[in-house]
Amino acid sequence: MEKNSLNKTGGTKAGALLCPACCVEYVEVEFDLDVEDVVLHNVKALRCPSCEEEQFTPEQVEEIKKRVSNTAHP
Ligand SMILES: [Zn+2]
Repeated sequence: MEKNSLNKTGGTKAGALLCPACCVEYVEVEFDLDVEDVVLHNVKALRCPSCEEEQFTPEQVEEIKKRVSNTAHP
């Protein structure tokens, strides 16, 4: 009867993550990100509303990589 991580997602949005420090659910934010001389606008990330620690989901990391390579090598 354990509900642990990495089970199939039960239909909730993108598996709400909790900040391990605060046990507060991250909220999605958008901001401009500066990566290797490339500025990406409206990058999505998760931010803890309590300690403001930011965190990228694997999908968001992929998206960032894609956009960096697109911008860096047109
Ligand atoms: Zn936190």
